[in-house]
Amino acid sequence: MAYELAGKRVWVAGHRGMVGGAIVRRLASEDCEVLTVGRQDLDLTDQRAVLGWMERERPDAVFLAAARVGGILANSTYPVDFLRDNLLIETAIFSGAHAAGVGKLLFLGSSCIYPKFAEQPIREESLLTGPLEPTNEWYAIAKIAGIKLAQAYRQQYGHDYISAMPTNLYGPGDNFDPAASHVLPALIRKVHEAKATGAPVTVWGTGSPLREFMHVDDCADACVFLMRHYSDAPHVNIGAGSEISIRDLTALVMDVLDYAGEIVTDPTKPDGTPRKLMDNSRLTAMGWRPRIGLREGIADAYAAFLAGEGRGL
Ligand code: GDP
Repeated sequence: MAYELAGKRVWVAGHRGMVGGAIVRRLASEDCEVLTVGRQDLDLTDQRAVLGWMERERPDAVFLAAARVGGILANSTYPVDFLRDNLLIETAIFSGAHAAGVGKLLFLGSSCIYPKFAEQPIREESLLTGPLEPTNEWYAIAKIAGIKLAQAYRQQYGHDYISAMPTNLYGPGDNFDPAASHVLPALIRKVHEAKATGAPVTVWGTGSPLREFMHVDDCADACVFLMRHYSDAPHVNIGAGSEISIRDLTALVMDVLDYAGEIVTDPTKPDGTPRKLMDNSRLTAMGWRPRIGLREGIADAYAAFLAGEGRGL
């Protein structure tokens, strides 16, 4: 039996983030009341404040997309912020959901929860089978704790709390700051700027690593799908099921932005892990499929970049 969102009060925690923002857009086509609260009005690390807000607002369902996020540099510079703030946000919202009688909660993590040397494509069962990537273990440990909190509330209280782990996401609201961004927004910016001067496009590393990409609107659609149709303890990967090399991705971004310049590699920058692909078969077996192809998605992300919809611009 599906969990229907129609007529429900649905809180999207983290609506200012890329994923939370996409979930709010996606919920516009559901017949539900979307609740959001700004950072200035509610500190999500403040358990008492979160409890008070949830008891007043009484959400029926919660999408927990709020987190302190950042790249490799931020993670290794501010380990306390990444571990402590994320644990506090999770504890506050799970406790609040329990106290306020929330009927369904979806907790969102990321693919960095998996062991550094997990077998590819990465299956949900790989969780906690090996050491994490040390550069983001602070964030990963907090996200693993979130999965376990959802499972613990299910086991101890029978609450319908579920978890989903999306692959690399991109789209409107992305971070385009060259020092902090992930590869796809970085390439959109680099190609846009190179096109203006006719300069070559510099790709970090060798260009040979393989990565998987999903448009954030597909991820939001998968989140709503899981909210309605999934009700079990194991977390679920949200993946596109296909991968592309960084060099081919660069060529595709150049094609979409209509720039026929030269590509050069910068081997002084790290490649990172050679391959990172999620196994999405648990999700696709339920009948969900991504809809936005990479070319179309990049065009949409570029339009958002040109419209100034993003951070670090
Ligand atoms: P990762 O998936 O955790 O490795 O994160 P990234 O998205 O930052 O990097 C993915 C791959 O893209 C790595 O092999 C990078 O070396 C490569 N890459 C190429 N150019 C860039 C760039 O300008 N920025 C970033 N972040 N990565 C780049």
